[in-house]
Parts: sequence; structure tokens; C-alpha cells
Amino acid sequence: MALLKLGENIGIMSDNEKIEFSKFKSKLDAEVKKKIKPDRCLYCGEKTSQLCNSHTIPQFILRRLSNEIGEIYNSNILIKMPMLMNNVNGIKSAGVFKLICRNCDSQLFSDYENPVTYTDKKLITDKVLAQIELKTYLKKMNIRYYEREMIKEISKLGENILEEREKFVELDIKENELYIKEAKDIVERENINNKHYKLAYYKKLNYVVPVAFQDVLVLITGFDGNVINDIYNEDPNYVLQGLHICIFPLENSSVIMMFHSKKDTRYEKFFKDFNKYKLNEQLSIISYIILLYSEEFFLSKKIKEELLRNKKINDVAQQTSINETNIMEIFQKVSLKLAVNKYDLNNYKDIPNLLSKKYAISR
Ligand SMILES: [Zn+2]
Repeated sequence: MALLKLGENIGIMSDNEKIEFSKFKSKLDAEVKKKIKPDRCLYCGEKTSQLCNSHTIPQFILRRLSNEIGEIYNSNILIKMPMLMNNVNGIKSAGVFKLICRNCDSQLFSDYENPVTYTDKKLITDKVLAQIELKTYLKKMNIRYYEREMIKEISKLGENILEEREKFVELDIKENELYIKEAKDIVERENINNKHYKLAYYKKLNYVVPVAFQDVLVLITGFDGNVINDIYNEDPNYVLQGLHICIFPLENSSVIMMFHSKKDTRYEKFFKDFNKYKLNEQLSIISYIILLYSEEFFLSKKIKEELLRNKKINDVAQQTSINETNIMEIFQKVSLKLAVNKYDLNNYKDIPNLLSKKYAISR
């Protein structure tokens, strides 16, 4: 069965075909998930059959966005990917992965999982940022394991999957391992010297935004038309530099953070330009970056309908991502120049700002 093509054609499929496809997809999905479940904790190496359901975004944050029965929207409400048909998640299953043991999950992330941590910028130490980085890369690792296995499964069906994609996944797994090791060292360190990360942006807003987000993104360009990361560079020594972004809606406020490793100097000019904007524009730019680059964010069930229906928001979210998270697109011969055009952040002005006070949610 032409799985990928079938997925692409879902718009013109009959209802019966859609049901068949959906059944086939969930069977494959379940098989792959079973296969990638490790028998050891990825963190401590202990053998265990009881891996924890780890959350990439702390549950107390997701809970803030949910309705009475604990539901939130996932990004598919805007992206509308044919292969992934669910728009709604229970907060218990949102952004969940199984790679580490219960013991590690409960010990390693105590600051990150504590609402008090986000009440004051002073409390955002390297230890907290390392915990965030660790969580983010573990989740990314899980996605890569899934893709690696999926490529194998699809190949078995005789599907002509790109060999290059396989190479990319392997390479990225190796890079992620390095980041995980780096974060692990800081998480376990007794004395924190706050020398590893640069918390380039921290804002506490006195209202609750309808979005929750935590990921590391590889920005291609900023505002000046120059390249930040050359995503087509094939030199094995050229490492893509990631920017961590967190959008955490809290009880009566929201915290927005951006940080990166101090070693990653490619973001200096970006922040020099970014800092010149006023607060509302900065928030608008961050909102645009999330829509433009990310395939996983969560929206409140109480978000204003006009935002979900807004054509411009939907168009940006649905742009074929050439970011590294997309399975098929990265090896299309799109020139870097085209990518720079497409990802030019000056275009933020046309898109409604999800982080604006006017879209804040109430209890
Ligand atoms: Zn463990």
C-alpha cells in the first residue's frame, strides 16, 4: 500500500478509504510504538519493564489550558496533518513518551515540575534550564526512534523510502545523545555556576495565554535576511544550533522564555535585533515562530474560535515544514535562499498574535 501517497491524498479519499487508512495507520503506529519501547531506562540504564509516562510539558501547565473533562487541543487543530487525525488530547496523554524509569522521572525534574520555579526569574538557574533541555531532548529522541522504526516498517511494505532520511535520523540521534549527556552533567552537578546557558529572554505576563509550548527549534533566519543555521550544510562538523523556547501558562500569569547554550553563538545577532522590538511585537514574533516552525504545541479548549478559524494562522501552520522535524521535505532540493525567504521573521506582522492580552483565557 502506498502509505505516504495515500496519506497525501486523504482529501480526495472516500469515507470507506479513509476508515481503512485510519485502521491501517493505527495498527502500524501501535506496532512501531511497541518496538521502540526500551527494556532499560535511557537515563540510568536500569533494566525495567515499568517505564514512566513522561510529560514534555509539566502537567500542571497543561491542566491550566484544559476544559472540565481534562481535554486540550493539540497542534493538529491548525496543522491538519492527514496522517494524524486527532485534534484533541487528554492532558494525561499529551506530549507523552516512555524512555525513562519512574525513579528517574520523579527525581530529575523536581524544579522543572514545581510551579514555584516560574514565579521569579532569579529561580531560573542553569539547573532548571538543564532539566528543561533534558526533557526536550528525551522527547526528541523518542520521535527519532519512532521515525527510525517507521522507516524500517514502511520499507518492508516495499515503499521507496529515502535512504537519506535514514542517515539523517541516525545522525540526529547521535547529536541528541550529546545534548542529553551535556544536560545530564549539569542536572547532576552539586554546585551550579550558571555558566552554561544564556537565558536570552524571560517575560512574565500578568495574564494566561492560550498556548503551551516547549521545544528546541533550529532557526534558519531572523530579520536581516542572513542565515542563522544552514540546514542544508552537509559538512559533518557543522552542527545545527538550537534555540529553546518555552511558553508556560500558569495560574494567573504566563512565563515566556528563550535560551540556548552559551557555546551557540549564532543567535547573538538575532537577539540584538529582537530586543529592539516592543513587548507586544516580541510576543507576536514568538507566536509566529511557533506557528512557522513547530509541529507540536498545545492550545486551550477555551481559545477563541476566531483564532482557530483564522485563515492566516492556518496557512502559516500548514506551510510544508522544511524544518528538521519533517520526515519528507528536508531533502527536497529547496535552496537555502528560498528557505530564508520563507522563514523571514518580518512576516510576523500579518499573523494574529496568540500571546496577545486580548486572547488571554480566564478561569
Ligand atoms: Zn532510570
